[in-house]
Amino acid sequence: MASQPPPHSSRYFLDRQQQYESNARTYPRRLPLAIRKAAGLYVTDADGRVFMDCLCGAGTLALGHNHPAVADAIRRHLDDGYPLHTLDLTTPVKDQFVEELYATLPPAFAARAKIQFCGPSGSDAVEAAIKLVKTATGRRAVLGFHGGYHGHTHGTLALMGNRGPKAAVAGLMPDVHFLPYPYAYRCPPGSAADDIEYLLDDPENGIPPAAGMILEVVQGEGGSIPAPDDWLRDIRRITRDRHIPLIVDEIQTGWGRTGAMYAFEHAGITPDVLVLSKAIGGGLPIAVIVYDESLDVWEPGAHAGTFRGNQLAMSAGLATLRHLLEHDVPAHADRMGRRLRGRLADVRGRHPFVGDVRGRGLMVGVEVVDAGRTDKWGRPPHDGVRARQIQQECFKRGLIVEVGGRHGSVLRFLPPLIITEPEVDAVADVVAAACRAVADKPPAATVL
Ligand code: PMP
Repeated sequence: MASQPPPHSSRYFLDRQQQYESNARTYPRRLPLAIRKAAGLYVTDADGRVFMDCLCGAGTLALGHNHPAVADAIRRHLDDGYPLHTLDLTTPVKDQFVEELYATLPPAFAARAKIQFCGPSGSDAVEAAIKLVKTATGRRAVLGFHGGYHGHTHGTLALMGNRGPKAAVAGLMPDVHFLPYPYAYRCPPGSAADDIEYLLDDPENGIPPAAGMILEVVQGEGGSIPAPDDWLRDIRRITRDRHIPLIVDEIQTGWGRTGAMYAFEHAGITPDVLVLSKAIGGGLPIAVIVYDESLDVWEPGAHAGTFRGNQLAMSAGLATLRHLLEHDVPAHADRMGRRLRGRLADVRGRHPFVGDVRGRGLMVGVEVVDAGRTDKWGRPPHDGVRARQIQQECFKRGLIVEVGGRHGSVLRFLPPLIITEPEVDAVADVVAAACRAVADKPPAATVL
């Protein structure tokens, strides 16, 4: 038997994927490729076509694909005979992981921090965070935000802004209450911190006492929307004054993505519960919550799970962390993010349908709109159809970029944090060419 699989085309693998895999599959519908190999920013498909990957495992691959530091750490872990899996039993690798992770936290937070290793998905860690604050406060309501994304389990789906994936599922977690998020391009009414403070203090707001509030500092799937620093500081004060634990979901933003180790650092706030996953495993699955010890009143076994001890992910995560710190990668991500946004702003200047270019660090969004019309608040409608066309044109030209946000109207860029200047320019050039290619198409029948 041949040791190598036969050289099939991308089409062959895609047809088989369609034949066997669930109807719930997502990315291959918009990004039809079978990935054969990957390095840094680049993936090569089964036909030998090379793509720049600005999706990077939905922001997981801080150092890009197969970074040598990460690959070496994985090999060394195996060569040294460390275990792969230990439930939540400790090991030298885990001990080191905790120590170095704590060293990245604001010292006052670290000094009082407890860590819980969760099942390996971000969703499971959010579930743990919700259970933690409910247990600690004895309350039941959870405050979330419009446009929020925290996962796809019954609890986390309840916290999702996007109504689409929730529509078919009855009986999600009860007592979730949504607040407007400060989406600067559209200024949703009621999203000012003062409005939220007023709402929370209204004895007739209909909300039971809150066990916690959960937010993303930069909303990811919601459309790469950064919250203003002042707003975050106000929300921190409002929640602290009312003894509402603040859960900051940094699953996508954590470890350098926004130009700081943690996105909450930009505003100088500290959460009560920090949720981490994605980058902290260097591409392998791991998820944790780190929280103030005053909340640590749940019982032994309160959040159990088999795969809480992914040792290889801890080794890969440690290698990622050391590389991030040694090479000042968050500062580099900040510079590259500014450059990318600058280049995309030039594209906006040429095409009115590029409504907004925004983001923080290398979490960048381009909102596509129907510039010829305005809604009753004077804002141009979202144009998800054109965003999808731009995505397809990018794909044809060898750039993988995802769409998200309302009506799928936001092109979302999550490149490796180690992307270089020429690579940033190459990405922006492809986006410019893709926008030119769709410029003559009429706007979609947008919904006002
Ligand atoms: N929270 C945020 C902010 C996320 O971006 C994601 C994943 N995109 C999740 C939670 C859920 O993580 P997972 O897909 O690993 O369950």
